[in-house]
Amino acid sequence: MSYDVLVIGGGPAGLSAALNVRARGKRVLVISNPLEENPLWRAELVDNCLGLPGLSGAELLRILRRHGEEAGAEFREGRVLSALRSGEEWYVSVGPEMERAGAVVLASGALRGAGKKFPGEEALLGRGVSYCATCDGMLYRGRRVAVLGFSASAQKEAEFLRGIGCEVLWFDHPRDCVISGRDRVESVTCGGVTEEVAGVFLLRPSAAPGELFPGLALDRGFVAVDRRMSTNLPGLFAAGDCTGGPLQISKAIGEGQVAGQSAAAFAAG
Ligand SMILES: Cc1cc2nc3c(=O)[nH]c(=O)nc-3n(C[C@H](O)[C@H](O)[C@H](O)COP(=O)(O)OP(=O)(O)OC[C@H]3O[C@@H](n4cnc5c(N)ncnc54)[C@H](O)[C@@H]3O)c2cc1C
Repeated sequence: MSYDVLVIGGGPAGLSAALNVRARGKRVLVISNPLEENPLWRAELVDNCLGLPGLSGAELLRILRRHGEEAGAEFREGRVLSALRSGEEWYVSVGPEMERAGAVVLASGALRGAGKKFPGEEALLGRGVSYCATCDGMLYRGRRVAVLGFSASAQKEAEFLRGIGCEVLWFDHPRDCVISGRDRVESVTCGGVTEEVAGVFLLRPSAAPGELFPGLALDRGFVAVDRRMSTNLPGLFAAGDCTGGPLQISKAIGEGQVAGQSAAAFAAG
């Protein structure tokens, strides 16, 4: 099914964008990791959001999400792995499936430490290195694989691999890993310990914007946008922490509003 607008990321920027797409009467789908995995969820107290004093991060996120739901935004839990524009539409992959829309708002937040690539990762991508258990898991049935997980959802993907008959070695928030092999993955070393494996699943909550959207213009690592929150790619808008500082909720909500309006107008032609 095609939407008018897809929003990637269900934090303050993405929810504000979705609300404003709905205010223009357009259909919008928000694709995001679970709300409880948003970095703000852990904040004990947020006291600089106008009109919403004294809330925890979790309380604030629940309020913003409910507002989006009540406005008629649709939601899909999942991790966006790639995006491609073909003809008049964007095709966005969520695990092994696709969603499509005329316009997209990227609101994926700031890329934190887990976004850094490990040595060997790029060279062996597609030759034993995978970012999606549900897409590539069957290739490793009956074999030993490593799952480098950075969230609770990653544990679910590790369970999926176990369920289809993989021998799974789970690494929780690993640092300093090296993936080795001549033509294909042969081993992974994390924290100085080497394990022989046939595959390595790297399940990060997010990918760098330039990887999700090849050709996307960046400015010092953040998505470059104009005052309409347009990027250099047709029908792609961005908002919130992914466009740069200040990395704060009110700025994310404001940018989300502009991006949502711009995306709705673009989708309307
Ligand atoms: C502990 C803590 C306390 C904070 N306290 C304050 C405060 O008091 N006041 C304040 O103003 N700011 C505070 N901040 C900053 C604030 O949380 C951010 O500025 C704000 O959340 C940015 O909103 P955003 O929507 O741009 O990104 P985020 O809130 O980071 O939301 C992005 C969402 O997109 C998801 N996502 C990313 N990539 C993908 C993908 N490929 N597929 C699917 N989903 C994806 C992420 O998992 C995340 O849920 C705090 C941050 C932290 C971590």
